[in-house]
Amino acid sequence: MCDFVTIATYHDFTTASFDKQKLEEQGVDCYLADENTIAVQWTLMNALGGIRLRVPAQAAGEALRILNEKQEEVPVDFKIEEKPNDQLCPNCGSNNTGTEKYSRSIAGWTWLLLGVPVNFTRIKSHRCFYCAHQWEA
Ligand SMILES: [Zn+2]
Repeated sequence: MCDFVTIATYHDFTTASFDKQKLEEQGVDCYLADENTIAVQWTLMNALGGIRLRVPAQAAGEALRILNEKQEEVPVDFKIEEKPNDQLCPNCGSNNTGTEKYSRSIAGWTWLLLGVPVNFTRIKSHRCFYCAHQWEA
């Protein structure tokens, strides 16, 4: 048995599938977490934090190399020049993080569960763009 780790998070299904296919072509075992949930419930996207591409821990380096090699977009940087805030990721220490109000995802959940959107505007959620870790302020 081996542990799977998340190497990338996507907010659109097409890109996620594309990258998954690239890894499979190279013989890397992988799967998309929450793929099915998100496919039927797009409103859950924010609450779940997107679609996660997961590979066996020992294949993570190889998988990232394959994705970066073939990606036309610039890969996510560990350290970014312009810091929007002073938040460092508690998981990996990257400063490539963002803050978003929790209200959007909470409102999404309460809308589904209660039929009424409830805003908790005081709660903020931080997200690491490097390792996709999420934490609360
Ligand atoms: Zn991180």
